[in-house]
Amino acid sequence: MSAADAAAAVERLVRPAIRQLSAYHVPPAAGLVKLDAMENPYALPESLRAGWLECLAAAEINRYPDPGGATLTALIRQVFDVPAESDILLGNGSDELIQMLALLVGGPGRTFLAPSPSFSMYEMISLFTGTGFRAVPLDSSFGLDAGAMLKAIGETAPACVFLAYPNNPTGNCFDPEAIREIIARAPGLVVVDEAYCLFSGQTFLTELPAYPNLLVMRTLSKSGLAGLRLGMLMGDPRWTRELDKVRLPYNINCLTQAGAAYCLEHYAVLEAQGRSIREERGYLLEALGAVPGVTAYPSDANFILFRLDRDAVTVFERMRADGVLIKNLHQPGGALENCLRVTVSTPEENSTFLAALNRALAAD
Ligand code: PMP
Repeated sequence: MSAADAAAAVERLVRPAIRQLSAYHVPPAAGLVKLDAMENPYALPESLRAGWLECLAAAEINRYPDPGGATLTALIRQVFDVPAESDILLGNGSDELIQMLALLVGGPGRTFLAPSPSFSMYEMISLFTGTGFRAVPLDSSFGLDAGAMLKAIGETAPACVFLAYPNNPTGNCFDPEAIREIIARAPGLVVVDEAYCLFSGQTFLTELPAYPNLLVMRTLSKSGLAGLRLGMLMGDPRWTRELDKVRLPYNINCLTQAGAAYCLEHYAVLEAQGRSIREERGYLLEALGAVPGVTAYPSDANFILFRLDRDAVTVFERMRADGVLIKNLHQPGGALENCLRVTVSTPEENSTFLAALNRALAAD
């Protein structure tokens, strides 16, 4: 096939919905203070390194990994207090679990539903899998518009509703009563995505036995283990058994299984890091709120959304040129107009961020 034929084949074969997309853009961060992706800034403490390395050294990399991750799953049940009635399914990050849900109950003629703004992958994965997607705007304080959600659920009969709790990028936990009403009225699955629960202390995990259409999703990414890629989906075995059929056989590699198990055995260390980040979040929110021209939104997560009274893109770019990478969420005329998002980090990095923001604002 000539290069011209290949170009024509791409045009002909790649589904139009995919051709129109651009790939998920991870901005280069080399040399920058990285505050764009809600990572935990703390490394594994020195005291745990030797044990960690021993654990990885013992992993049998010549063998395929345990297909179901039995040891790791048992530890997850214990550490997170997963109800005995509920099953646990592991994913290569929670992103993969969203994809499995789409392979199971999505596809042409089906609809997924989520509030907007929320985590972008719910819509992206719907698109990848030919699943319809309905976005329901949040109210003006970023709360769930329960009436609009229930109306949209009635109109679209979604196969799955996604509720990030706390929500990304707004940082707030939605009203749990509104969530319960949605779960009770939804004709399909409701996934409560608790990616940031380490920082909110709020969960629907204990409510799983009461709602057979509820699934709770978690990840270790925000707790200091983003590099391992481990997501967890908890819920009624009737769903997880079916989901397991669309899971690729060895989706959790043996180094992740061994490393995550070791960290869960020492989970108190990660919880302590989470507590310092929560404490820092309070200071940072106060400091941000005191900057003229900035409206900072309260957060139950490890990041803060804030709005500027001027062009946020210029400020974002000045900060990047000054060595600090945050997330630009600005969309002209949208709910996040002139909004930026920053990860809560160490006291030092938070000060670096505030100084860069003040410099960027002063440059006007
Ligand atoms: N859910 C939410 C709400 C998120 O914000 C993110 C990551 N930004 C994820 C899921 C994906 O996490 P993971 O790293 O486990 O794929």
